[in-house]
Amino acid sequence: MQRNCRYHFAFLCIFIAATPANIVSAQSAPPQRHVNEQRLQSTLTRLSEFGRNPDGGVTRLGFSEADMAAREYVVGLMKEAGLRVRIDPAGNIFGHRDGSQQLPIILSGSHIDSVVHGGNYDGDVGSLGAIEMIRALNESGTMTRHPIEVVVWTNEEGNHFGIGTLGSGIAAGLIGPKILDRKDDQGVTFAEWLRRYGQDPAKLDSARSPQGALAASVELHIEQGPNLYEKKIPIGVVQGIVAVRRWACVVSGFANHAGTTPMNRRHDALAAAAKDVLALREVVRSENGTQVGNVGYTKVEPGAPNVVPGRVEFPVELRDLDDSKVARMWEQVSERFGRTDKEEGVETHCAATDETKSARADANVQQAIRDAAKSAGLGSIDLPSFAGQDSQNIATLAPMGMIFIPSKDGISHSPKEYSSPEDIANGAEALYRTVLLLDQRLNQ
Ligand SMILES: [Zn+2]
Repeated sequence: MQRNCRYHFAFLCIFIAATPANIVSAQSAPPQRHVNEQRLQSTLTRLSEFGRNPDGGVTRLGFSEADMAAREYVVGLMKEAGLRVRIDPAGNIFGHRDGSQQLPIILSGSHIDSVVHGGNYDGDVGSLGAIEMIRALNESGTMTRHPIEVVVWTNEEGNHFGIGTLGSGIAAGLIGPKILDRKDDQGVTFAEWLRRYGQDPAKLDSARSPQGALAASVELHIEQGPNLYEKKIPIGVVQGIVAVRRWACVVSGFANHAGTTPMNRRHDALAAAAKDVLALREVVRSENGTQVGNVGYTKVEPGAPNVVPGRVEFPVELRDLDDSKVARMWEQVSERFGRTDKEEGVETHCAATDETKSARADANVQQAIRDAAKSAGLGSIDLPSFAGQDSQNIATLAPMGMIFIPSKDGISHSPKEYSSPEDIANGAEALYRTVLLLDQRLNQ
């Protein structure tokens, strides 16, 4: 302030420097950032070259050549940052930094595999953001009490073997050795891919993380939804990962000649399914909250312009952070489907196909993220994750939290996925500060 004073009389400078306006501006100056935005960005750019598609984005499926090459690059980054690297029998990569005390580990990381025609941010930001956090700790000469580990989980997206959050699921003991025999489209087993990763599939069980090994886990991730971007809020404090339940529904009507069957004698399965789709939407919208519901497709039989549809298959999916709300919505939906059956003269049966319970983020970790964002001069809001995450598995092992950053236009799983370098660095800074707060606050 004094240095830039244009007045030659020192007392005027002091007077100006002490005016309330100056005091306010001094207070609102952004707090020091410990992570390096450019350095983090350059590693993200380099990572984006592995599996890059000519029309933008990447296809870097878990267990693919591109994934293997990218993993090698990330292992190199970990080693450069002074981390001791270990790869478990599920292929999960861990980089260890010692703490000053014998305490459980504070874990942070994400995944680097993508969906088919995916983007460069989902997973990458949290994996490389965690390594940048380590570099920042090294630069500030910070020794934490807890050991810190950076993790890159294997095959989060699950496009290759048809099962998502694979590596973290094995670490959490939710996926067992049966998975070893599963074959990909080329007939190559999961066991064979582990061998290509240099692992011994017979030891898969030892990839299971022992209870008590982790003090806490914090994952940085893009939101994959529009809330932060639209509200221009840099940090999302994730409340948890929503429950997802799915059902396969079949409407049975009667296929008949579309010309000769009078309108009042039809048992039109498609007309009934159409009512059901709208009924589902009405139920989901009927109460406040962020719950969502979806009918992803319909399969209509026999599927001809001159035949009244006799059979329709469709899936129902419901998501919310509150498992009981999902159950309540399903009850209402079922009741509405029953009403449609009577009105349309059809029969509808739905069978549960998939249930993932919600995973709550730990209250103390959420508070640490909130405090960390505030200390970095960054606004935050609380919000759920509507997408599945590795962290939902880790919640069974340790207090878990996630930091979200804005996704442009809420787009993800697309080459159009984008988060600005500044938003990414803000997220990494919030991660850095969260880890330090947890290191101070956690007794264990
Ligand atoms: Zn992800």
